[in-house]
Amino acid sequence: MTPRTRAIPDVGAATPVPALEPLLFELARPGRGGGHVRTSETAEIPEAFRRRAPLRLPELAEPQVVRHYTHLAQLNYSVDTGMYPLGSCTMKYNPKVNDRTASLFADLHPRQSYRTTQGVLALAYELERMLAKITGMDFVTLQPQAGAQSEFTALLVFKAYHAGRGEGARRRRIIVPDSAHGTNPASAAMCGYDVTTVKSDARGNVDLEALRAALGPDVAGFMLTNPNTLGLFEERVREVCDAVHAAGGLVYGDGANMNALLGVARPGDLGFDCVHINVHKTFSTPHGAGGPGAGPLCVKAHLRPFLPKPWIVKEGDGSYHYDTSREDREPEPLGDSIGTIKQRLGNFGVLVRAYTYMRTLGDEGLVETGRDAILAANYLLALLRERYDVAYDRTPMHEFVLSASRQKKQGASALDLAKALIDEGFHPPTVYFPLIVPEAMMIEPTETEPKETLDAFAAALNRLAERVATDPAAVRETPRGAPLRRLDEVGAARRPVLRYRAS
Ligand SMILES: *Cc1c(COP(=O)(O)O)cnc(C)c1O
Repeated sequence: MTPRTRAIPDVGAATPVPALEPLLFELARPGRGGGHVRTSETAEIPEAFRRRAPLRLPELAEPQVVRHYTHLAQLNYSVDTGMYPLGSCTMKYNPKVNDRTASLFADLHPRQSYRTTQGVLALAYELERMLAKITGMDFVTLQPQAGAQSEFTALLVFKAYHAGRGEGARRRRIIVPDSAHGTNPASAAMCGYDVTTVKSDARGNVDLEALRAALGPDVAGFMLTNPNTLGLFEERVREVCDAVHAAGGLVYGDGANMNALLGVARPGDLGFDCVHINVHKTFSTPHGAGGPGAGPLCVKAHLRPFLPKPWIVKEGDGSYHYDTSREDREPEPLGDSIGTIKQRLGNFGVLVRAYTYMRTLGDEGLVETGRDAILAANYLLALLRERYDVAYDRTPMHEFVLSASRQKKQGASALDLAKALIDEGFHPPTVYFPLIVPEAMMIEPTETEPKETLDAFAAALNRLAERVATDPAAVRETPRGAPLRRLDEVGAARRPVLRYRAS
């Protein structure tokens, strides 16, 4: 294959920089095409549904299209190309056998009868039981298709729970810690709750006194991530849960960091009323750029009546079906299901991957996974702690947060370091989150990286710290080896250009 590179003047011809891929619209020529779909085949479409004017699609030969997407894939950085230490996102290697099993279910229709899908229901039911066991909860809904949607589901469940007790109108406030993932306050606001933030204490835990002061008869619940987004285990988690319960509130567990707890601790034993699992993170589905995901919600028995329906039930004879009976009978005295969040089995392919992953590892393998994730993070931190400041310096769980404040004073920020890592061949860590750490760099190596890779990543980051000390301007000018350099990231999110216009 011809090397698809161009020289960037200030990098020099010696450094190959991958070329940008033109748009299909730019490659197109009028009249060109693959010619596989004959017009006669479209003749069966009823007149009323036919287009009046032809779609303005780019016209290309088939190999051009194939090469276009192959080139794009080659520009992509993924877990399959290198280490991806994006804190909080758990970008770990996803075994290919998971995809293989998920593909067995590719032509399943979401409305297919339970009569012809007994195996599918058995898998879903077993997965529910496995997740309940891992989290220490009683019941599970597989419907939510992301962590954020599971938060939303849980808060609807909280609302229904309080409404059933005649306190719906009064309990209209949700409390979140200042270290919370942005989806927590956003989900609460989307449910119509007022949001109160409580600060963290000097050790990076929820400030218990601040929490107590914020609690009151108008509080519906508290959302807690454990280990929190600093990668630290909440040292007084039981007291936190007790305080919320004493005020009549419910405790929501953001379980996106479940990787660290596997086989070590169970949210259900710690006092949480429910917890969501980010299946695509902990139980391994390739994810990014908004999907695909699954966020099963695991609850204690007192929240079960409010879970989305239909439920998957197992009969005495071992057969499975969907329980829609709740639709026909009198509402429960204390309230009823919140309805459907995503039809029936949720994002099933992601759930099959999780099931495969858990069954191939077994109980012992899962325990080892959690421990290795913690070991990898602690090993990496030990290699980096000399040259970088450590935010809340305690023994972390599966991830840790550095601060590039020292480097910022020397002339290069956390963002500059993130960009410079691209030239070193690594995906950058999460930066500027959690919000309570200045110049935050949140690093999650995951359990799947071999020691040599961790060593190479630490060496690269330490090299960059040295370069910042001597020549910060060079670090500010990175990346040099990527087809695009610094982008207007806010503009890309707020004013995205998604439509091609011939100029
Ligand atoms: C990833 C994450 C979420 C959101 O999960 P999505 O599946 O991306 O919606 C929520 N909380 C924490 C702590 C996370 O890491």
